[in-house]
Amino acid sequence: MKEIASLLVKKNLAKTPCRVEILRTLISSDTALSEQELRQKMTHDYDRTTVYRTLRNFLSLGIIHSVALEGNDVRYAITRNSECNSEDVHVHFHCNKCTGVYCLEADIFTKPVLPDRFSAANFDLIINGVCEKCHISGNPHDS
Ligand SMILES: [Zn+2]
Ligand SMILES: [Zn+2]
Repeated sequence: MKEIASLLVKKNLAKTPCRVEILRTLISSDTALSEQELRQKMTHDYDRTTVYRTLRNFLSLGIIHSVALEGNDVRYAITRNSECNSEDVHVHFHCNKCTGVYCLEADIFTKPVLPDRFSAANFDLIINGVCEKCHISGNPHDS
């Protein structure tokens, strides 16, 4: 995938099979993935430490971002617009039924105005509800 190769070059990272596969898996997923889900979707069985380190590395470079849910449940998603990472205020949607976490790229949220002397490092807004897929397949009473 050209997209992945150029992303690694841009971030000065060597093109290792593990890196490529993590990125490919995250890019092709429409939901954010937990470390376990990620490893299950990958074709090779990389050891946990390698996957973990690669994820930390990607996080620090802004290639991916994480979403922390309750109970130490962390999901990872590719950062689509890594150029303006610090201004990225997109919202996450957590489905109560399938537990899927989606990045809502739509500009539905404006950056909050903070009181004087408060500065935000990041935003972590999670909307809980029922996703599109579960709306279609589920019964309407559950929403
Ligand atoms: Zn769902
Ligand atoms: Zn996201």
